[in-house]
This record gives sequence, structure tokens and C-alpha cells, in this order.
Amino acid sequence: MSDPILFTRDLWVRVHDPNGGGSPIAVVRGANIELQRGATTCLVGESGSGKTVLMRALLGISGARPGVTAGTAWARPDGSEFPVPLVGPRKRWRGRALPSLRPGWAGYVFQHPSHSLDPLLRVGDQVGASVTIAHSGLTPAAVKRRVLHWLETVHLPNPEAVAQLFPHELSGGMAQRVAIAIALATEPDLLVADEPTTGLDWSVRRDIVDLLGELCRARGMSLLLISHDFQVVEHIADQLYVMFRGELVEDGPRRAFFEPGPGSHPYTRELQARSRALEEGSSPPRLHLAEQPTSSGAGCVYAHRCPWIREPSPERSALGERCRSVRPPDFRPSSDHRVRCIAVGEPT
Ligand code: SF4
Repeated sequence: MSDPILFTRDLWVRVHDPNGGGSPIAVVRGANIELQRGATTCLVGESGSGKTVLMRALLGISGARPGVTAGTAWARPDGSEFPVPLVGPRKRWRGRALPSLRPGWAGYVFQHPSHSLDPLLRVGDQVGASVTIAHSGLTPAAVKRRVLHWLETVHLPNPEAVAQLFPHELSGGMAQRVAIAIALATEPDLLVADEPTTGLDWSVRRDIVDLLGELCRARGMSLLLISHDFQVVEHIADQLYVMFRGELVEDGPRRAFFEPGPGSHPYTRELQARSRALEEGSSPPRLHLAEQPTSSGAGCVYAHRCPWIREPSPERSALGERCRSVRPPDFRPSSDHRVRCIAVGEPT
């Protein structure tokens, strides 16, 4: 049964053109995303696809200007539903004050822990600051007990000693565990982890992903994992969204992506092929970056890279023209699986 803790309807985020063009550029285009309570949702796409912009906008920590220009987001922290104030300081809803989300209801694990941790503060003080967001009025001894609890929860050996360290004294894996402890210490309902395994060895990456899954299951917490890596995602996802150039081009449950089925988006296939190649140590498929997307906004956002246009089968020889001029409709291989492509589902 659908029980989202956070969802959006047709959300658009725009930024000013860095080249000084007149109109802001859409970096998130009509996103409809649902994060189910207690489940792991993965948002997958290459760098620059808009994943982080979307989630920062949603959590109200986006620096994008003008930012969210259309659409809505809704939070259901305890089952009752109310709008997230995305656009401006929205104070009232249905004639009454907008219910505010509990401070720390969403925890955020940033991409590079070495950047997000304060280099001048000991680990214990940083975790302690999060503890006091969830619980005001604690004695210093009670804060310390909770700090050690959270460091232990993320499987850091000898929490007493780790609490005394400064960030530069931590390995990459330890720093990421500390960042997770800081996010957990606010006791969030939703944990957002943005590329939490970037730059880590595969064995450490696997440990971190396993840890996130274990923590969410144990606490009934929702997890949103942002990643470019299908290897990581396969390990943990209940639900996936694939994003390319600001558009969610495919979404569905894990079986739609990792079990044989009626078809997936060509971009999803490209990401999966790249992850497989990296896992096997072979060269990933070459990206066709020379060709630029059309600026008109018409047609499919992936048309300039789509292999089904670049090397069409005889049945798909007329596809290119359609794909460049018509916005692809959503194809639904099943009621819970959506693919934004003209050709998936057509005979090949
Ligand atoms: S709509 Fe066309 S260009 Fe876009 S992914 Fe499908 S086949 Fe490729």
C-alpha cells in the first residue's frame, strides 16, 4: 500500500543562465517522486543530472535561484499531509499556520564527509550538536552518553577515542560513518544520503551501504540514496528513479530494474552497462558527448545520446525524427513501472 512520507507533484527548479541568457534554465523538469515510509528509494543518474538539486530543493536547503518555480511537495511525517514550503516563506495553509516539520526530521549525509565535517571541532562535539537538536535540556553527561551510542551504532570501534578525534585524523570510511552518526543523532524520519560512497574502496562502499540499509530497517526510517552507481543501488533499493538532464525518465520497484522484464529506458541500460563494466574492470561504453541536446526543449531529453537513434534497427529507422520533435509519453510495462520513451514497448 502506498504510504509516502514525502512526495512531489510536477516540481520544476530553475537556475539563472550562467552565460547571461534571458530565461532561467530548468534543471529539474516536472518531477513526480514518492518516498515511501520505511523504504529505500534510490535516485540514480550521472553527475549534473539534477539529483542533488531536486533533493536540496525539497528539503529547503537549495541555494538555486530562482529555485522552485512550479509544482508542490507534500510531507506526511506522521500520516497527516501538509505542503512543504518550497516557494518563498509560505506561512499559512487552508487559513491556518503551516504545520512545521520537527527540526531534524530529515537527516542529510553529504557527498564528501571531509567537506561537511567541521575541521575545527572534535567528532564528539559535532555529534553532540545534533543530539541537542533532537533533545533539548540534556545534561552534558547525557549528551555524551548519546554521542557514544550513535558512534557505536555506526560501528565505529572505540567510540570514546573516536569522539576525541578531529576530522583530519579519520580515514575516509570512518569520516563517512561519523557523518552518518551526525545525521542519525537528530533521530530523523527520513535519511538522505547523497553519493555516500564516492571516493571509497569497493569493500568500504559495500560496508557503508550495508550499514545504511541495516540502520533504516532497524529504525523503520525512510532512506533516499542518491547515486550514479547501479552496483551500489542494486545492493539496497526498494524503489528506483532514474534522472537524466533534470527529467525522471524511469521509475519502478527493484524487480523492474534487476529482473528480466518487458523493457527499460535506454539511459537506464547505459548506466547499468557502465556499472557492470567498472565492476568487471573493463572499459565502460564510450559516451557520445559531442552531440548537444536541442535547446528548444522539444522532444526527448536523451535523444542526442540515445543508441536506438544513433544505430537504429530497420524497425526503428524513422525513430529519430519522432524522438527529436515529440515529448515522449510514459509507457507503463506494469502499474508500478513507468518508462518515458516512445520506443520501449514497440516491436523491434
Ligand atoms: S524516446 Fe527516443 S530518444 Fe528518447 S529514449 Fe526513447 S528511443 Fe531514445
